[in-house]
Amino acid sequence: MENEAVSRNFIEQEIDKDLADGVYDHVCTRFPPEPNGYLHIGHAKSILLNYGLAQKYHGTFNMRFDDTNPTKERMEFVESIKEDIRWLGADWEDRLYFASDYFDQMYECAVKLIKKGKAFVCDLSAEEIRQYRGTLTEAGKKSPYRDRTVEENLALFEGMRKGLYQDGEKVLRAKIDMASPNINMRDPVIYRVAHMAHHNTGDKWCIYPMYDFAHPIEDAIEGVTHSICTLEFEDHRPLYDWVVQECEFDNPPRQIEFAKLYLTNVVTGKRYIKKLVEEGTVDGWDDPRLVSIAALRRRGFTPESIRKFIDMCGVSKAQSSVDYAMLEYCIREDLKMKRPRMMAVLHPIRLIIDNYPEGEVEYLDVPNNLENEALGTRKVPFCRELYIEREDFLENPPKKYFRLFPGNEVRLMSAYFVKCESFVKDEAGNVTEVHCTYDPETKSGSGFAGRKVKGTIHWVAAPYAKKAQVRLYENLVDEEKGVYNKEDGSLNLNPNSLTVLKECYVEPELGEAKACDSFQFVRTGYFCIDAKDSAKDSLVFNRIVSLKSSFKLS
Ligand code: ATP
Ligand code: MG
Repeated sequence: MENEAVSRNFIEQEIDKDLADGVYDHVCTRFPPEPNGYLHIGHAKSILLNYGLAQKYHGTFNMRFDDTNPTKERMEFVESIKEDIRWLGADWEDRLYFASDYFDQMYECAVKLIKKGKAFVCDLSAEEIRQYRGTLTEAGKKSPYRDRTVEENLALFEGMRKGLYQDGEKVLRAKIDMASPNINMRDPVIYRVAHMAHHNTGDKWCIYPMYDFAHPIEDAIEGVTHSICTLEFEDHRPLYDWVVQECEFDNPPRQIEFAKLYLTNVVTGKRYIKKLVEEGTVDGWDDPRLVSIAALRRRGFTPESIRKFIDMCGVSKAQSSVDYAMLEYCIREDLKMKRPRMMAVLHPIRLIIDNYPEGEVEYLDVPNNLENEALGTRKVPFCRELYIEREDFLENPPKKYFRLFPGNEVRLMSAYFVKCESFVKDEAGNVTEVHCTYDPETKSGSGFAGRKVKGTIHWVAAPYAKKAQVRLYENLVDEEKGVYNKEDGSLNLNPNSLTVLKECYVEPELGEAKACDSFQFVRTGYFCIDAKDSAKDSLVFNRIVSLKSSFKLS
């Protein structure tokens, strides 16, 4: 990490070389999502990588919706994707593009290829094309339509565009090399007939370009220099290069691949997230147990924490999987100094101070964050009746239990010493009230130097506290079994991934908190206001992360 300023990842090394060799005199990157779902943490890596490179090289960053496939795309996703990218902190300024705006140019490119004898209309069915393609060990077989004349191809392609043919009846294929060891080069399909309306171009087109043809053209039109994508496209690079070369773009872009980000035991694939959403297993695309950007935001992650996480993951060509605990480490580190530490009781039990005057209230000065004085102090009401955590009282404590038990004295955080005098049980034997006496001399901050106590517990004043619902999250996936069921490919879900605590009590000041505001609740973790379900009079908090971690920075 110390060498960050000088050490370059492999993509930066390639860019440095290109700039030094004069291949490009500037850098332009892009993020090209397909608007067919919400973005997830893996996309964040791609966004921050592309945006980061543009920043680093004082270049430009394009936001481009790769909307060339009318079957799966919806405008709803366009807006959510823009919102997520902005939230992450990547800024495309006025460089927002839609691949579908280039359909005319793509068509022109196809015509150019036909005129050069580099593309032909093929009547083989999809199944036949597959059979003719050959295998890794066996060369492909040429299509019987491969030698059509330029004039014939131009007329047929024009016919495809005019809607003379049914879906699948004809395709346009690049004429490259059926014997290529790279199957992607064996006369790939570049245009297909699809009688389908497109969300942007409506009914203008009934032919649509294939990804491997469209993508390099999109990059070239925009003047992208470095088209950064994930490893599964490595074998498509020769085709990418072929397209930009044969379409005769000046100063064409180049493709560089890096490894996808995977999180161990976490569902990241868009397809699987979609299934969980559609089957109602989770509460929408932003369910806080998911790792879509919207879900992470709702869970209480900050853009800073995600940027730090992506930074720590680094960029590489080797496929690997990162522990979710590293993401948790990043959010803890980010919130630790920034957020106030408040008192909230998640499993309440009443504590009554018998010698504290009934009806009286005092407002104690409580520091917001002992490690960061700049956050100041707040006033917290204190009175005769409080709530404390149920686990902070035990009738029969084990050794080394320093919290409340009959006869023991503890400090109430930022308040007084209280000593447990008695307790009350209900018919079922559950403790319902703990009775204490307090020592007025022991007020926190008063300089009291008398006896010491070993335990400090938190509390809230019962008549003033706000009632809240608190949602505790665990991994959606059953970690023992792993993400996917080996037999049928279904997901192994953890039945306890969500625990809802309906009767929690929090400091009154938290009643003013707004959507996504986050806090440390002392001794329990970091929490935020749920942006969807919380209201002023019915607060809902999400647990972002607990305080402790097993994750160690190596
Ligand atoms: P998924 O694999 O989840 O279905 P996708 O690749 O279909 O995602 P796109 O909208 O095509 O989603 O992706 C936009 C960009 O994000 C692409 O450049 C893609 O390579 C990149 N990307 C997708 N998933 C990851 C990941 N896990 N790590 C890094 N980059 C990713
Ligand atoms: Mg994709």
